[in-house]
Amino acid sequence: MTRTRDIIQRPPGTADTDEMQVVIVRVSDGVQRIDRPGWKPCNTWKDEFWWTDGNAGCDCNRRMFFARAVEPNEPEPACGENECGNTEFYVILRSPVAAS
Ligand SMILES: [Zn+2]
Repeated sequence: MTRTRDIIQRPPGTADTDEMQVVIVRVSDGVQRIDRPGWKPCNTWKDEFWWTDGNAGCDCNRRMFFARAVEPNEPEPACGENECGNTEFYVILRSPVAAS
């Protein structure tokens, strides 16, 4: 299922191996958090599909990644307490912004 809210900001000429930054946005309040790559295959442009249409396209996983962006040890929610969906979060995929 394509998450039409997702925003892809891939610059022209970007290679699949170039670094990608994932911003997870909670729709209810607009809070944005930068994802921590961690164990996930998520930090180059080859992972774009995984975020938009793969496992990370679902609210259940985005909810966990959103929590872990500020609390790395946030446990996985118990079964039945983490509903699937595609309306609670969207992502912005972009090239990393240089630190100022
Ligand atoms: Zn799900």
